[in-house]
Order: sequence, then structure tokens, then C-alpha cells
Amino acid sequence: MTEPVHESHPTDPDWHARTRAVAAGRPARHTGAPVNPAVTFTSTYIADGPVNYARVGNPTWTALEEAIGALEVGEALTFGSGMAAIAAVVSLVPNGGTVVAATHAYNGTTSLLRERAADGSLEARPVDIADTAEVVAALDGADLLIIESPTNPMMELADIPALTAAAHERGVLVACDNTFATPVLQQPLRDGVDLVVHSVTKYLAGHSDVLLGAVVTPADERGRALRERVLRHRTLAGAIPGPMEAYLALRGLRTLHVRMERAAGNAAVLAGRLGDHPAVERVRYPGSGAMLAIEVRGGPEAAERVSAGVRVWTHSTSLGGVESQIERRRRYELEAVTVPENLLRLSVGIEHVEDLWDDLSRALDAAVDD
Ligand SMILES: *Cc1c(COP(=O)(O)O)cnc(C)c1O
Repeated sequence: MTEPVHESHPTDPDWHARTRAVAAGRPARHTGAPVNPAVTFTSTYIADGPVNYARVGNPTWTALEEAIGALEVGEALTFGSGMAAIAAVVSLVPNGGTVVAATHAYNGTTSLLRERAADGSLEARPVDIADTAEVVAALDGADLLIIESPTNPMMELADIPALTAAAHERGVLVACDNTFATPVLQQPLRDGVDLVVHSVTKYLAGHSDVLLGAVVTPADERGRALRERVLRHRTLAGAIPGPMEAYLALRGLRTLHVRMERAAGNAAVLAGRLGDHPAVERVRYPGSGAMLAIEVRGGPEAAERVSAGVRVWTHSTSLGGVESQIERRRRYELEAVTVPENLLRLSVGIEHVEDLWDDLSRALDAAVDD
């Protein structure tokens, strides 16, 4: 046993996803029972129970893990951050093994792989994840394929079922970073992916107030064997979430569907209008979700003027909160050099779309008038 004492009200996999998001991870319905799980602050447990120490398990994590698992249709383990979750997945690769991953994956992922490659502990093969033939050609002799779709910040889309099938034919484990799409838009475990990774920091928690990560594995024998290895890594690396963060993320998760609907609706409107704005050279919008990127006429300086010139939008890194955020990604040294210097990543929030448009179009006008 790896779960501390926690009795939950069961949910039905046949319920619609938004119902599961509201219902999962609630306490059992005894007369007078609370409707929310407790935030369990403890470092240890009374002896002879299923868990003896809180680096191994905490009932507040378990509640959040039930809810994330119910949405991805698998079994979740939560981590102290998205990068802790990605590091746990990379830990599955044997020493000297090979990892195939998107050139334009999240820059923490590409940096982790680059550093592990530099110290000789693995081989990293960067690929254009949108080019299925190129990815498949890189899979021979590999141990792990990390899919990201859409990619951060280039918004490229991968053919998840085709890549997963090709990887499995070659005995390659498949992980998918589902942070941008969220389980509202895609559930990669349904396409056969072995491990889904989340930066829960982003849409799942949704309010820019916690860092948290998750790894979700299928609820079958093979998935459970992977889960055991990932759990062992979490316990031994100590990559655990705090109970307060887990509670806040669970609270945020309750509104995931309504937040995503509003934010994605706003993003679709903005993507259309930005395409007609004279200051915008290119819009990168995958057709769904609430993330997009624009390339601004006038180079990196003009792009920086746009992000400095907004008042409704927030000039800050990160994404997936209720507030709209904007950032030029190449301001970071770690960002891939193939990401255009004038690219602004937009995380569209749930504000009124006309306020977002007025603010952004004015900042774009001003940035190119200079
Ligand atoms: C932010 C992010 C991460 C890293 O998550 P943290 O919670 O910041 O550690 C991983 N993948 C993607 C796609 C992200 O956007």
C-alpha cells in the first residue's frame, strides 16, 4: 500500500468530464462529513498504518490525484512542480539511454535533457515533433519519446496516435506533456501514451498561485508497474508537493472546464483579429485551446514594447491562469534559437475579450508607430 488513510466518495467514469472535475477527490458521504478533503499537515503517521512517513503519501495529495486521474482517465501522482514530474519521467531512462524530444518543447525539458546529455548520462535527440517521419526515424534504439503538443511556445501539433504506435513498435516508452491542451481538449492515454505529464501550475490549478506537477499512467498492469517506478523516484528524490498547494490545485481544478471554455473562446476571437492587425507578421494558433503566439513587425524591440505597453494583460512568464499573460520568449537564454526573436507568447485568460483586444491592439499600434 502506498496511500495513507483516505476514504473518498466514488465517481463514475461514465459521467461527463466536467462532472468528474467537480465530483472527484471528495470525502466519503457520512452524515455530517465535510464536502472537501482536509489539508493534512503532518510529517508522520501513527505506526503500523499503510504509510509511515509523509514523504511517501499524504491524503490531500491523494484527493488531488483522484481528480486529475479522473480527468486523464488514468492514475495520477502529484509532484512539487511540473519539472519535478518531467525529471521523474526522465529518471525511467537507463544510464546511457536515448531520449527523443521536441526541439521546441518547454525550455526546462530541453535544458534538462541537454545537461544530462552533456554529462554523458543520456543521449538527447531533438526532433521537429510536427514532422512524423522525422520523429519515427529518430526512434530506433531510443528508450523514451517525449511528445509535447501543442509545443511551448511554437504551437506545433504532433500526431500523437501515429507517434505512439511507431514508438511502441520499437519498444520505446512514450510520455506526453499535456500542459497546454489539458484533459479538456485531449487525453493522450486514450491514444496509448504511457505517461501523461502536467505542469499543474498552469491550467489545472489555474490561478497563478501554486507550483505543482503530475504524472498520470494507465490503470492497467503495465501502467501500474510504471507508476510504482515513478512513485519510487518521487519518494527517494523527495519531489513531493505541499498539502496546501495540493488543496489549492484541487480547488482550481473544479472550474477547469468553465475557465478553459471562456479562455479558449477569447483566444479564438483574438487569433482572428490579430491576423488582420498590421503590426502582426504571423499568428500561431492551433485552432483550439487558449494559448497562441504572434510574431511582431519591427523585431524583438517592437515585441518588447508591446509587452511593456499593456495594462489589462500581465507582462509575466508562465501561463494558464485566469489572467491574460504576454511574454517575448527569446528574452530567455535557454529558449531554442529557432524560436523567432519577435515572438510573443500569449496565454489568454477569462477577462472580457473586448478589454483584451483594446489593450493589445493599442499596444501593437504604439509599438510599431515608434
Ligand atoms: C511550465 C511548464 C512546465 C514546467 O512546469 P513547472 O510547474 O513550472 O515546473 C513543463 N511543461 C510545460 C509545457 C510548461 O508550460
